Amino acid sequence: MNPILRFAPSPTGRLHIGNVRTATLNWLFARKYAGSFILRLDDTDLERSTQEFAQGIRDDLAWLGLTWDREERQSDRTQFYDTAAAGLKARGFLYPCYETEDELARKRSRQRALGKPPIYDRSALQLSEEERRRLEAEGRSPHWRFRLPNTASGQGLAPQPTIVSWNDLIRGDQIVDVGSLSDPVLIRADGTYLYTFTSVVDDIAFAITHVIRGEDHVTNTGVQLAIFEALGGEAPAFGHHSLLIDADGNALSKRLGALSVQSFREAGLEPMAVLSHAALVGSSDAIEPIRTREELAAKLDLSKISTAPGRFDIEELKGLNAKLLHKLPYEDVADRLTAMGVGGGAAFWEVVRGNVGVLADAQAWWQVVAGAIAPVIEDGEFLSKAAALLPEEPFSQETWGAWTNAVKAATGVKGRALFHPLRLALTGTDQGPELKGLLPLIGRDKALIRLRGDTG
Ligand code: GLU
Repeated sequence: MNPILRFAPSPTGRLHIGNVRTATLNWLFARKYAGSFILRLDDTDLERSTQEFAQGIRDDLAWLGLTWDREERQSDRTQFYDTAAAGLKARGFLYPCYETEDELARKRSRQRALGKPPIYDRSALQLSEEERRRLEAEGRSPHWRFRLPNTASGQGLAPQPTIVSWNDLIRGDQIVDVGSLSDPVLIRADGTYLYTFTSVVDDIAFAITHVIRGEDHVTNTGVQLAIFEALGGEAPAFGHHSLLIDADGNALSKRLGALSVQSFREAGLEPMAVLSHAALVGSSDAIEPIRTREELAAKLDLSKISTAPGRFDIEELKGLNAKLLHKLPYEDVADRLTAMGVGGGAAFWEVVRGNVGVLADAQAWWQVVAGAIAPVIEDGEFLSKAAALLPEEPFSQETWGAWTNAVKAATGVKGRALFHPLRLALTGTDQGPELKGLLPLIGRDKALIRLRGDTG
């Protein structure tokens, strides 16, 4: 059976590294096992969801190369939620409650004062038809709670432990005691549905086979497994990955602007560096930059993902980006280099790739090779002697060695004192790619101009 996975962001913001981790793991799993991947926009919160964020999420995923086979929007699916809710109501799994927020808060503080856990006491289950009509006549509309599988009846019977368990794809055997939870509200008083419910209806409707999501959803999974059962649907396998923490060990909270996909893109980072980091952080394998999504998918092993928090450090991501570029073949970057106005083909790229942190850094080296630079001249006399010894063209990778040997023999200068002034004159800067590679690209005419100290 080919797996079907989904990534289900709420379009209430752009994607950040935390959601990218979830999206990437689901996508790679689908890819590895020849499955399909659905983008589900959880846009039932009509006030906070926007078209712009939905489009932003599509753009972010497209930039990452996490393509989706199909898109679904929860806001289009109300009729399916209505049907599923009607079935649960008919079978007593959903019951109407009339307490206001204030009343619930007061109940909770009374429970706490008595040393009891602040679990909803199910008193709405005791309401008679007559009492319900009266409450509705007062203008109260009900919200609806899902009756979790436990024995408390609202008549003072204490809830009994009721264990829901599953074998987690990442965390191994898991249990949640739904007897210790309040019956969740699935329908608000205004008739809108909560994610806990819509997600289950959709996972059944789309025949989702695997759900990989953050460990902040573990308790939710206990509740949702009970809802799957009440709906008579088959539950997917669940895997809960650890959450990311920042370099100081704090949760990546809401100050996520700097950790958004958009910001990575603007910083010129490579999608594959972001994906490699997102997929491999917290795994027992070292985080190495992986060149293609296929290789990354082949490497995916959920059982190797640690349950300890994954440390996300933007500096590490930048380092990974540089490492990735250092090994990318020209074909992977050719189009983008051309779009940046960088020429020189594979020969140029192979010389400079070890010296770029982001692809756009290649522009500066292209300027050194093909444009005009201001040479830095420390000792004009030495440079003019060197210029006189510069071999005739054609230049090759051997030219630099032959030339500097000749300069050394003629002047007695060696080591750094020999190479450093030549580099400053030829490139205008004190570090960069190997000169044996750069010199043939710069060419004899330009080299002579620069050795004289002229701009060129
Ligand atoms: N919209 C939910 C979230 O972003 C989806 C969680 C899930 O994957 O079930 O938290």
